[in-house]
Amino acid sequence: MAFFDLVDFDDHEQVVFCSDEKTGLKAIIAVHSTTLGPAAGGCRFWNYASDEAALTDVLRLSRGMTYKNAMAGLKLGGGKAVIIGDPKSIKSEELFKAFGHSVNNLNGRYYTAEDVNITTTDMATVNQVTDFVAGLDGKSGNPAPFTALGTFLGIKAAVKFKLGKDDLTGIKVAVQGLGSVGYNLCEKLHAAGAELVVTDINQEALDKAATEFNAKVVGLDEIYSQDVDVFSPCALGASINDDTIDQLKASIIAGCANNQLAQNKHDQLLKDRGILYVPDYVINAGGIINVSLEIYPEPYCAEEATRLVEKIYDTLMTVFENAAKQDKPTGVVADEMAREIIANAGK
Ligand code: NAD
Repeated sequence: MAFFDLVDFDDHEQVVFCSDEKTGLKAIIAVHSTTLGPAAGGCRFWNYASDEAALTDVLRLSRGMTYKNAMAGLKLGGGKAVIIGDPKSIKSEELFKAFGHSVNNLNGRYYTAEDVNITTTDMATVNQVTDFVAGLDGKSGNPAPFTALGTFLGIKAAVKFKLGKDDLTGIKVAVQGLGSVGYNLCEKLHAAGAELVVTDINQEALDKAATEFNAKVVGLDEIYSQDVDVFSPCALGASINDDTIDQLKASIIAGCANNQLAQNKHDQLLKDRGILYVPDYVINAGGIINVSLEIYPEPYCAEEATRLVEKIYDTLMTVFENAAKQDKPTGVVADEMAREIIANAGK
């Protein structure tokens, strides 16, 4: 494989392939950039179709973390790890310890944390063999409420910019996914006077949202075409794609999900349709902002985390204003701003 020529390689500083036959560990740790500080990003456990698919995923995710951390104003670079295999069959304490040794060997160039299929208990096991772990119970804890706060403020910024409204009273929001972040976000939107339309595969969460927030419940495929102001992807990646983009009636896309656009071209297509896309890694940075305070030398402080998450509003306003001035898609502008922050720090 022409490794260095891969589009997603994108000048990664370091990529480490980790293997431990005894425990079945096969992992890749990607350190995209440490220009702003130690690389930080979670570890995903996934049964990839191939090693190449795992490599592509970790490279994309780790570069995304570089941009996310830069735009959040953190003194952290970008990195990510993936463990390859079916978590249901190969998860074990010994495997996580072997992974922890690999993280430890990087000597603080990379901090790991939870991502898909990894729990705080798993990370506590990793923490038995390395200090380079964040997001632990009893420290910064669950990042979801901070991600929800940032997403709520991002929606407010988008509504102000696109619709000229300072508050969310009567604003209609379609929320796709009522998980840890999505449900918390709905709570905030409802309290602010927004009207909610929701969908999920979890009927219990839907019933609860209908009762607690007077939310209208719709089917999984119906959520895109709702007559709303804001479409808020809070479940899976790639929900904005060739099949869904033409169904959207919302003039704003603003949610917490990672990698919302299936392809880069969708950024331009949304702009062409007059839809304001709120770049995912800027609006959903609340969780990593909270986790970052566990990595910095100062003791963790929830008030400081909240203060930093609140800055997402102004950062997004700058993205929207720059995009309007330059007549460019918001995702492109956010990438350019992130690269500039990193380049300036590099000087
Ligand atoms: P979660 O697993 O708690 O929630 C996801 C929800 O989506 C679940 O309720 C699930 O039932 C629902 N869902 C699954 N498939 C669906 C579908 N086809 N249609 C509608 N709903 C569906 O996850 P979370 O922590 O709330 O994270 C949500 C998204 O935000 C993810 O993309 C995650 O990567 C991203 N994110 C989360 C955080 C965080 O702090 N948790 C931080 C940054 C980004």
